[in-house]
Amino acid sequence: MPELPDVEVVRLRLDGVLRGATVTAAASKDRRILRPGAPAGFGRALVGRKVSEVARRGKWLRLALGDGGRLFCHLGMTGWWVEREPEAAAERTERARIDVRRGRARRSVRYLDGRRFGRLVVARDDIPEWRALGPDPLADGIDVDRLAELLARSRRPVKDTLMDQGVLAGIGNILATEALWHARLDPRTPGKTLSHAEVVRVARGLGTALRHEMKVRLGAKDDEWRDVFAVYGHAGAPCPRCRTPIERVVLSGRGTTFCPTCQPERA
Ligand SMILES: [Zn+2]
Repeated sequence: MPELPDVEVVRLRLDGVLRGATVTAAASKDRRILRPGAPAGFGRALVGRKVSEVARRGKWLRLALGDGGRLFCHLGMTGWWVEREPEAAAERTERARIDVRRGRARRSVRYLDGRRFGRLVVARDDIPEWRALGPDPLADGIDVDRLAELLARSRRPVKDTLMDQGVLAGIGNILATEALWHARLDPRTPGKTLSHAEVVRVARGLGTALRHEMKVRLGAKDDEWRDVFAVYGHAGAPCPRCRTPIERVVLSGRGTTFCPTCQPERA
């Protein structure tokens, strides 16, 4: 599932194509992805409007339109925006397209989504899902005191709190797993048992994991997937720090990997 670094890469590319451009055509017939459902509304909301900005908070994208309207997009499990030649035919997984003109240049972006868990929402104001998001660690940084306060109130495993989109927007299974390995903390540790020094380690671990992934994603082609992780998806492989085999547990329904030596279970 795309996490913050992936969505930021999509935002940068979309912003480069769409910002300052005028929409000449826009279409989607996919009722499962579009909300509110009417396919006609998608084109009507976009055509003739200028895109003033493509913003992101957590895993949500927001296109600001010249008339004050907005298009929100969540990539779900397999969603992705790509640029194609305006004449290029639709691909099998194409669910929406937006064609634009800036000066004499014509360009086209397509929304591809094989499993169709993504969402495209046309709205006049910010939607509740956007408003409910916590600070974005890339755009806003990580407020250690706020994080400490939220963790201190929680019996939940620290990993679950990190993945709560109202706590920090955009952290998914990958970033949380990697951050806790950097922080040398067992992902199952209840939030309220963490010392302040440990919360500082968590915040630093998140920063390290985020910077590393951003660097890799920005250097990769399109949606090329590269395994650059220390422990995520590496069950059974040696820990890059101490060579202990990485273990895997299921935590709140998500596969979670960690090093039992570097991230010892709290007694
Ligand atoms: Zn280790």
